[in-house]
Amino acid sequence: MSKGHVAIAIDGPAASGKSTLARELSQRFGLIMVNSGAMYRAVTWKIIQLGIDPADEASVIEALGKMDLHCGVENLESTIRIDGQDPGEELRSEAVNLAVSAVSAIPEVRRRLVELQRGYLDFADVVMEGRDIGTVVFPDTPFKIYVDADATVREERRVVAGEIDAVAERDRQDSGRATAPLRIADGAAILDTSGHTIETGVAEAIRLLREQGLELGK
Ligand code: C5P
Repeated sequence: MSKGHVAIAIDGPAASGKSTLARELSQRFGLIMVNSGAMYRAVTWKIIQLGIDPADEASVIEALGKMDLHCGVENLESTIRIDGQDPGEELRSEAVNLAVSAVSAIPEVRRRLVELQRGYLDFADVVMEGRDIGTVVFPDTPFKIYVDADATVREERRVVAGEIDAVAERDRQDSGRATAPLRIADGAAILDTSGHTIETGVAEAIRLLREQGLELGK
């Protein structure tokens, strides 16, 4: 682990409860929560703004080369600005939901963002959530949770949040891509959040992390 900092890796499909869990762990234990999906979303948002077809790999790569990506932290959570702009709520728009899996399947996009993601560990303990955190970003961390939930529960969570998001289609693309597909990392504990409240789910995650040897809240 970089400079003795701790990384907790949380992966799982769309709307499985990763962000909620990561945020709770961050706030309870003072870790920086890194939402890696927001980075893929931000690049996708910029590609849409530029009028580039997300499926046009060469144009996406060319535009990426010119993007100024700035990652930071605010109130213990990762932030991202692209060319000085914070995309804000637009990160969760239908257009971004539709295009993000195509953009994040491009290896060059992943290379650039994984480097930024790893950079957080240089200065803090982090809880990072995404699709490939335990497999690619921090494969050596012993602290890994794969969060899952029934497909119907996950679809329903997006509806309740007022989002238009084809969860199953994003999962299909994220699991089927050649580079860093979503899969259960070696050594990851599995947490199914379908029947959990936030409180009981977080308690179970803490129990699993302690089983993996993490000394939280010391
Ligand atoms: O986590 P969230 O649903 O916001 O992620 C949006 C999209 O970003 C995912 O559907 C996936 O295509 C991509 N992603 C990824 N690798 C990560 C995090 C997100 O490919 N580590």
